Amino acid sequence: MQLQAVAVGSDATAKMRELMEVAQRSYQRGLQTGTGGNISIRLGQQDAVVIKPSGVGFAECAEDNLLVVDLHGTILQGTHKPSKDMDFHVGIYRARPDVQGIVHVHSPWATAWASAGREIPTLTVHSRDKMGRIPVVPTGPGGGNQNPDDIVEVYRDESRKAVLLENHGSVGVGKTLLAAEQVVELIEETAQIAAVAEMLRGR
Ligand SMILES: [Zn+2]
Repeated sequence: MQLQAVAVGSDATAKMRELMEVAQRSYQRGLQTGTGGNISIRLGQQDAVVIKPSGVGFAECAEDNLLVVDLHGTILQGTHKPSKDMDFHVGIYRARPDVQGIVHVHSPWATAWASAGREIPTLTVHSRDKMGRIPVVPTGPGGGNQNPDDIVEVYRDESRKAVLLENHGSVGVGKTLLAAEQVVELIEETAQIAAVAEMLRGR
């Protein structure tokens, strides 16, 4: 029991509040509706993260429903059911010590490209500078959710910030949770610009 108390360090509350703020920002910007998507933040004092559970919306995240899990997905604090996205979140944290926050959303423009199975071209100077490419991770067996290992594999490249999940949505990572959220904002903006640019070119 003593070990568990040590595992969930004193910064968990501060990190939960940071997550709630950034989740609200995503929700307000229309990047995630309902209870989809996921968001997590690394704790500063040990190998653990705060993560949104299954069935809770970005706008409803609260200290009494968020989970604290270790980097293998073992629950250290919280009673809610973990999301099926948890495995790729903790996998990315294991593979990338530089990553402090992860945001995964089903924002409509980006998910439209993902559902067409097409990589979003980073047409603007800003999107190219900030993200480079946005690789597409194919769907998992039977066209279902991506295999978590396939997502983690793409993120082993330390320069990788942005990834699209086929038929599913987008993932952004960052050195802060806000930076990760700004990546999914930029993916969404880039997806909209690319779609309109194609229309204007008549293709
Ligand atoms: Zn999802």
